[in-house]
Amino acid sequence: MQFADVIGHTELKTRLLTTASEGRVSHAQLFLGPEGSGALPMALAYAQYLVCSQPSAFDSCGTCSSCVKSAKLVHPDISYSFPVAPKEKLSQPKSVDFITQFRLAVQQQPYLNYHDWVQALEIENKQGLINIHEARNIIQRLSLKSVEGSFRVILLWYPEKMNVEAANCLLKILEEPEEKTVFLLVAENDESIPLTILSRTQLVKVNRLSDTDMFNGLSRLTDIDPKVARSVALRANGNYRLALHLLEEEDPDADDALLFLEWMRACLKLNVVKLQQMSEQMAAIGRERQKAFFEFSLSIVRECLMINYGDERLVRIEGKDKDNFIRFAPFIQQRNAEAFIRELNNAHYHVERNANFKILFMDLSFRIFHLLNAK
Ligand SMILES: [Zn+2]
Repeated sequence: MQFADVIGHTELKTRLLTTASEGRVSHAQLFLGPEGSGALPMALAYAQYLVCSQPSAFDSCGTCSSCVKSAKLVHPDISYSFPVAPKEKLSQPKSVDFITQFRLAVQQQPYLNYHDWVQALEIENKQGLINIHEARNIIQRLSLKSVEGSFRVILLWYPEKMNVEAANCLLKILEEPEEKTVFLLVAENDESIPLTILSRTQLVKVNRLSDTDMFNGLSRLTDIDPKVARSVALRANGNYRLALHLLEEEDPDADDALLFLEWMRACLKLNVVKLQQMSEQMAAIGRERQKAFFEFSLSIVRECLMINYGDERLVRIEGKDKDNFIRFAPFIQQRNAEAFIRELNNAHYHVERNANFKILFMDLSFRIFHLLNAK
């Protein structure tokens, strides 16, 4: 993967390129970014740049033999470490046992997350782990000499899933690896990474994608209508994986802004018939879209606060929707905003865990009725 294939993040790319060309490559870096921000693609592009034999100031060349091997995830000096689980006769699973699945999954969709990976592994009811066998295997891999003579990279995906035993085993080598050995850790949530590991890495923060970067990223897809790209970019809120899911859904043109306003009107007057109708309609749209709708609703609550207390120019919504939300904004005030956000986050959490959507939606709507009418 080249930097050119990674969506957005121009500033971060420049920073990585500059430090690499100046020879300031830290031996343990943590690429930390929320789901769909592109932390994994960024680390892959960086690794390819480090081993490329003819890099320019802007990117790896993409054509030398190192680049070709990196792109296929078969470069002998880049090795991958990721969560795995015991399967069939494998009682001591290591990443190398699943490297074929990993290559396939990442090449198909480099913006994948842990759940996608668990599905690809077909271990759905088990927890993927980076375990002691894997840690020992990493050390073993590093005892071999670099094949092509340049950097040697260990890309460790989801250090959140590393257990204490494995973490302890890796501490020393992470702190003092051999020269030109680079650990790239790629994570979503630094709170779940063993502290001993975290403290030994240099942070490379990958932010949520901006709406513009997301729109440009989506525009690279063939056959995408700019109007759809704009609507999906807004609803995906910086998460490219979610954006792809939204595009796959039956109705990529779904108007969450309109749906949200309809919902709020029904909540305000406690129109139970309408709410029941909506709960049925929304129960049918699938979990990813339900989650996206609650994420969108959360962003609207924040936008309303911005309209009420902040700077209207910071508001992301445009066009006719903006006027509608300006009219709705007074219903969100400091006294109820916090509870609003809590309720929506709760709903999102329970949708993710397969709660009965209709019950959840009705219950949430009653709570919102009280919040909207609270004096
Ligand atoms: Zn190259």
